[in-house]
Amino acid sequence: MPIPTELVGSLPRPMKLQEAYADYDEGKISFEDLQGAQDEAAADSIKRLEATGEPIVTDGEQRESSFATYNLTDTLAGTGLADGLAGDGQFFAIFDDGHHRQLPRITKGPFRYKTYASEFVAKNRALASHPVKQAVISPSMMMLLYPLEGEIDGYSRDQFLEDCVNEAEKDIRQCFDAGAVRVSVDFTEGRLANKNDARNPWTGKNMLQEFIDLNNRLFERFTAEERRNIGIHTCPGGDCDSVHSKEVPYELLLEHMFDMNAGYFLIQCASEDDRETIYEMCGKYSREDANGVGQVCFMGVINPLSPEVETAEHVRDELLTAAKHIPVQRLGATDDCGFSPFSRDVKPQHGSPDFARDVAMQKISARLEGAAQASQELGV
Ligand SMILES: [Zn+2]
Repeated sequence: MPIPTELVGSLPRPMKLQEAYADYDEGKISFEDLQGAQDEAAADSIKRLEATGEPIVTDGEQRESSFATYNLTDTLAGTGLADGLAGDGQFFAIFDDGHHRQLPRITKGPFRYKTYASEFVAKNRALASHPVKQAVISPSMMMLLYPLEGEIDGYSRDQFLEDCVNEAEKDIRQCFDAGAVRVSVDFTEGRLANKNDARNPWTGKNMLQEFIDLNNRLFERFTAEERRNIGIHTCPGGDCDSVHSKEVPYELLLEHMFDMNAGYFLIQCASEDDRETIYEMCGKYSREDANGVGQVCFMGVINPLSPEVETAEHVRDELLTAAKHIPVQRLGATDDCGFSPFSRDVKPQHGSPDFARDVAMQKISARLEGAAQASQELGV
């Protein structure tokens, strides 16, 4: 089988759509108007991804406030925030360029998603001629909605964590029921968990093992056959062309990440300086048998934060190097991250989000072509 290839999920939202989100926040347009703009951008995403030959497509997350909040709020500014949440939660991340992103805070139980990702899958299936995937958020990110210290009256931390796992399971199962062929779980908080950033207290609490244990409570609810198509995505962040945890030694994460019983991993790598060491570590730590499923390492060969388009030959050579360290039947190709995980992102390094969409398509084409060349070279 040729080296499989899969995108993480998001694409830059066209400026027109970003303006529609802002207009909705300001009460200038209705929710139906916003949905119309989302649908138009989603259809365009699918059409353009299919034109590149991307085997499994998404809507570029055009309908989502962000990869981490689609389930909680209609917009990043907090319009349509779910019941039982307040806007002033923890920083989920502080990025290198100085901007930050904040999570809501849970004020009362029980914790329930407002929107399940299956809603997007159903709409996308009606538009797409290629199979559809969906990215969902992890229980470990939702865990950060609860105050770091103490307990909420009448809603214990244990009850809350059980609700996080239940809701994540429901989210994934409904995606498959709606026809998704793959579901990947975003886990950007993994690398950040070792950052020790005094401005962002949870990153100093050594939470990686808790994150992994909680996510494994989710994975153990699925059969090995199901987990073959359930992935984990890791990255050092990717927002406004900036990162949040690239300086954290990667091995602190990679030596534990594969303990999660996911069937595949979408692993940022293209933006690393010493990529061969990362391939080596993925070969060393990924497992042939993760409770019944072999873990496939999709290595990031495209950097979505840089406007410079990788060549297919570069992608091919990276995958050939990776294949020296990772068994080729467990090797895949991906992008380092979604191209725009948050709905408001003007892609500053690119000059504009509309231009960044064009660049994303060129980069995806290079990934596909490079993966095909590497497969040919390797005889798979
Ligand atoms: Zn990412």
